Amino acid sequence: MLGNHHDAVIIGAGPAGSMTAYHLAKAGLRVALLEAKQFPRDKACGGGLLARTVQRVPIDLRPILRGAMHRVSVTLEMRDVHTRSSQSPLVYTVLRSEFDHYLMRAAEEAGATVLQGVRARGFETDDAGRATVFTDNGALGGDCLVGADGANSVVSRLLNARDNFYWQAAVYCEVPADLLNSSAVGWDCMNIDWGTFPSGYAWAFPKRDYVNIGAGGPIRIARHLRNYAAKFSRACGLVKSASIEGLHFTGHQLPSLTERTRVAAGNTLLVGDAAGLVDPFTGDGLCLAFRSAEIAASCIVEALGRGSRILDNYRQKLMADAASELRCARNLLSLSTIFPSLMYRLFRYNDRAWARFCRILQGTSSFVDLKSEILGPLRFASGLVDFVAERWERQALKRMVADDILRAL
Ligand SMILES: Cc1cc2nc3c(=O)[nH]c(=O)nc-3n(C[C@H](O)[C@H](O)[C@H](O)COP(=O)(O)OP(=O)(O)OC[C@H]3O[C@@H](n4cnc5c(N)ncnc54)[C@H](O)[C@@H]3O)c2cc1C
Repeated sequence: MLGNHHDAVIIGAGPAGSMTAYHLAKAGLRVALLEAKQFPRDKACGGGLLARTVQRVPIDLRPILRGAMHRVSVTLEMRDVHTRSSQSPLVYTVLRSEFDHYLMRAAEEAGATVLQGVRARGFETDDAGRATVFTDNGALGGDCLVGADGANSVVSRLLNARDNFYWQAAVYCEVPADLLNSSAVGWDCMNIDWGTFPSGYAWAFPKRDYVNIGAGGPIRIARHLRNYAAKFSRACGLVKSASIEGLHFTGHQLPSLTERTRVAAGNTLLVGDAAGLVDPFTGDGLCLAFRSAEIAASCIVEALGRGSRILDNYRQKLMADAASELRCARNLLSLSTIFPSLMYRLFRYNDRAWARFCRILQGTSSFVDLKSEILGPLRFASGLVDFVAERWERQALKRMVADDILRAL
């Protein structure tokens, strides 16, 4: 055995796992946090942290923030740049290698036992829901098991088939300062391109010493993303022309929860990407990674205190908190696929839409508020709107792929 029996064994020390461990250790539980890699390690990510996320996190993130973005420059099909600004920051930036290490250390300082370089290979649960985790270094037992092992979660596979999630993909590159046209970089300004690609977008997030450039979109057009990100690097003018060829974009998949997703069974539950908590419209996964960690920890503390199972409590709370928000984000994604220039036009010409967008990023409004305002008295028809929007989205996407718009990239 790797150690004593624990109240909770958490697989994966990304933000979702470390923060679950942090909350549980703070509540006085015996927690083991297993991580396959040695930290600091890199992680495919833009490193954009919504302002609303920073406000919610119970630990001081200031030492680890690399930048604060107040301005957004948006292009439509890599042309017609338009910039808007906000008085307070909209998005902060982090380097995931530093950020994840910082959170893991916070969990350790709170009292969690962190085991790095230990990959979970298999699981067993007994009738009482207690889990045994098998690794190359031995086995480990816990009263409950938390899957925080990311988009390719092995714990999630115990509960879900692949089509229980809606899948997208994204590629990124952290471009170091020596490859940048420093005079062109607005260090408080993110660049976004919409409309070039059927759904999804390209981004450039500046952070001290680096600019993170990437692109994301539906899984069926994933193979075009590297090309798109490279073209966007040239179009936004932030990277020296001679360096663009040498940029290495690496990618990963992003799962979003659907009505089929199972986020818990018995005393096993999923947090972060393992539960599909990626916003399908913005690609933001950190916000709900933190939120799910908080909800999971409170359900575990409550259930272990009562000696009962955590399943229903967690599912209900998570769905109440996250599912409707993700549903609305999914509607926006459908809308932007059907009308590729819509987001750009709203951003450029509609002050109210811009103000609302800022408030969503800053946490004083949400996609759910937006949807109920748009639907007004037709709120009861929300399910029908979801159905129609997704059907149109699929057709729009099919048409664009068939028209070979992508080959032109
Ligand atoms: C290209 C790209 C750009 C993105 N940009 C943003 C962005 O700008 N902002 C944002 O909010 N979100 C972004 N996301 C999403 C974000 O990266 C994820 O939502 C977030 O990392 C989820 O955190 P997590 O803790 O659930 O999983 P992860 O961060 O993936 O952590 C999982 C951990 O589990 C470990 N692990 C995996 N399997 C095992 C195992 N068997 N045993 C032990 N350990 C294991 C891994 O090594 C890893 O450390 C982006 C994603 C991609 C792919």
